[in-house]
Amino acid sequence: MKSQVILLKCDTYDRKKIYEELCWGIEQLGGICRFVRPEEKILLKPNLLRKAEVDSAIVTHPLVVSEVGRILKEAGCSHLFYGDSAGVGSMERIAEACGLADEMEALEIPMADFNESVLISYPEGKMARQFHIARGIRETDALINICKMKTHQLERMTGAVKNMYGCIQGLHKAKGHTKYSNAESFARMLVDLNQFIRPRLYVMDGITAMEGNGPASGTPVHMGVMLISTDPVALDSVCCALMNLAPELVPTNVQGEKMGLGVWREEDIEVLTRDGRLTTTQVREYFGKVDYDVNRGKEVRRLWRQIRWLSRHFQRKPYIVESRCIRCGICVEACPVEGKAIHLNKPAAPVYDYKKCIACFCCQEMCPKKAIQVK
Ligand code: SF4
Ligand code: SF4
Repeated sequence: MKSQVILLKCDTYDRKKIYEELCWGIEQLGGICRFVRPEEKILLKPNLLRKAEVDSAIVTHPLVVSEVGRILKEAGCSHLFYGDSAGVGSMERIAEACGLADEMEALEIPMADFNESVLISYPEGKMARQFHIARGIRETDALINICKMKTHQLERMTGAVKNMYGCIQGLHKAKGHTKYSNAESFARMLVDLNQFIRPRLYVMDGITAMEGNGPASGTPVHMGVMLISTDPVALDSVCCALMNLAPELVPTNVQGEKMGLGVWREEDIEVLTRDGRLTTTQVREYFGKVDYDVNRGKEVRRLWRQIRWLSRHFQRKPYIVESRCIRCGICVEACPVEGKAIHLNKPAAPVYDYKKCIACFCCQEMCPKKAIQVK
């Protein structure tokens, strides 16, 4: 049987329209009661990467989160929570800055505990056998993943599968980048994490997406869509079609299929819209942005990776646009490498030690001034 992905057209962040589209989409998958029971504790997991204006497309739009919450409340689910492990800053401040805190307060949905971590083992994991997850995840029965459509320097795009990394608590996220230090191993760890937590439903906010230097320094781009699925790999594959990106270039898609999380191939996916069923090729033709600014370069070949001195010249690296840098040092704090691969000696801008750099791009993700680019 094919994996189903619902594609909803939604041109603006209009509460009523988002609500109506989400209701229709969830009904196509069998209705919300197929995924949760009223007595369960349910966590809404948006992308709250860092403090940002909602128009910057860095975080999931609060109206998408609130309307999912409303649908759950109307289905009788009263034990709802929300939360995400921010890359930098406190979740409270991030939720306030983007307007999510007000939306959740209006619906009486409290914040889950993401300040403390719980170490859990997952012997079935193929890449990761234990996770330091936020206590709030442990204390809930079900999770709804409400991700944002964005580009990403390590995995090319971030969507349903990658959004689950926010279940890892605080500093443990940075440590994960050193343990799973390339795109493939990181993707395999993410697949294990998805398989361990098993979100009941994945919803993507792609009304305004991010292209270019994502996931935090890119450019907002209007796409006017939301996606819903129970298969995060299929959902991300449809997202790739919208980005005009070959899905097999995204490690979380390839590893996700190999490890049994979902499917990325066109023949295994059925896209449902209000106007009928589509293939992913048709999604690209009808709704995609041909010139979506995303990395479509081929991977450095395995043989070249083995010849390390040569591959170093071809590896993507972060660099600093000095005129934009305010010398805040957030990039240095974000670097997970022991002894740091980036150093700040004010008044000069930070400098990289590329011999130590593992190209995880945490510094680029966290820079508040879009001063870090990738070459
Ligand atoms: S985070 Fe950005 S602005 Fe701050 S020091 Fe680093 S490069 Fe400069
Ligand atoms: S310098 Fe930046 S890209 Fe390199 S390891 Fe540190 S955080 Fe990652």
